[in-house]
Amino acid sequence: MNRAVVPPSRRGACPALSAPMATGDGLLVRLVPADGWLTLAQVTGLADAARACGNGIIEITAKGSVQLRGLTEASVGPLNGAVDTLGITPRTGLPIDVSPLSGIDATEVIDARLLAARLHDMAADLLPRLGAKVSVVVDGGGAISLDAFKTDVRLVARPGKGEKTWDVWLAGDAARALPFGAVRGRDAPDLVRSLLERLAALGPSARMADTLPPTPPADPRPMRETSPIGLFALKDGTSACGIGLPFGALHADDLDVLTAAAKAAGARDLRPAPDHGLLASGLSPEAAEGFRATAQALGCLISADDPRRFVAACPGAPACASAHIPARALAPKVAQALEPLLDGSLSVHVSACSKGCAHPAPADLTLVGLEPDAMDNRVAVVREGTAGDATRPLLPADALLPALARLSDALTRARQPGERAAETLARLPPASLEPFLLESAVLEFTP
Ligand code: SF4
Repeated sequence: MNRAVVPPSRRGACPALSAPMATGDGLLVRLVPADGWLTLAQVTGLADAARACGNGIIEITAKGSVQLRGLTEASVGPLNGAVDTLGITPRTGLPIDVSPLSGIDATEVIDARLLAARLHDMAADLLPRLGAKVSVVVDGGGAISLDAFKTDVRLVARPGKGEKTWDVWLAGDAARALPFGAVRGRDAPDLVRSLLERLAALGPSARMADTLPPTPPADPRPMRETSPIGLFALKDGTSACGIGLPFGALHADDLDVLTAAAKAAGARDLRPAPDHGLLASGLSPEAAEGFRATAQALGCLISADDPRRFVAACPGAPACASAHIPARALAPKVAQALEPLLDGSLSVHVSACSKGCAHPAPADLTLVGLEPDAMDNRVAVVREGTAGDATRPLLPADALLPALARLSDALTRARQPGERAAETLARLPPASLEPFLLESAVLEFTP
């Protein structure tokens, strides 16, 4: 999540708030609180604004940004006014991501907010020449890692005593980024400045990968777990309790119930977190149990092993005018049908049209709603691709869940001891997914 601590910025100046994005279910705005946290009153106010100005759906993205959906041209102004009145300062400037618990995490090696604030100021004059997607990660080494974030410059706190040191990596997530050496804390702003100047000189379409010499593909490094779901020790002796929003979304009415539970548990604040998470900070372990119980009753994820964590879904029908299938309503059933395979090695995306809003990057398995053909087939299945890669519908929507259950059974039977689901799927020849999904197929898969 993107918790850069920046100086107070001009109210309402956040581009995402002032320039909302058109989607199939109206306008969407994205909001990243500059401090990384919201008071309980601010969350309640945002829920009110989501109902009054949008369709009541509040999302937390994979990077921990807050999104409100279903706005209109006329309601964007009132939403900006509500955000201003609530005293929420949106993040502006260069996107600099830090852990949502940075500064309060008992396990953090370095408080990443201090360096993030310096980098924010230092990069201000370069912004007009940097692409909108250029970003920096400052990972203080705490409990919630940012390894999965794709970024241009990554600084990771090096554990140990003595002078603060950051390991520097360039371009990509932590599994594939190029190591660039280490830098002392006091030298880090100048180093990052010089790297960003190099990018700025190439123009606004440049990303850090464009500045690097071609290298042969290397095996990806293991990444640290990023889930914010669980209980995290804080420096002041209290805890933060993290839960996950089901498929990244909650209705404002449910958020009200969750916020009331956080208040009853004595929470100081609520922190949007990566991987569609929300953290309540300042709790005792006993109070956290009450918060978790309410979250579970609302359908939220309270375990990092929850198979729904590995399924992304857009709102779909009826919320979105472009939708061909009810993606978000289908998603829990998809997770259930594929549960034996959802061990964290496979990503699944349910997209109600070929735009693929919920997961723009390729997924291992993408189920896409398309215009139905003469046989009423309306679901396409894409292996290792995006929703935009779907070419033709394969199944009727009501045949999807039994088809996934057959696929899950076949792969589970074929799984070798100690093998992860992605490895089993990889042994399947590229063109052979369809027979497993179509009822007429022979459903044996021999290792
Ligand atoms: S992917 Fe989903 S949310 Fe995005 S436009 Fe298509 S149907 Fe709408």
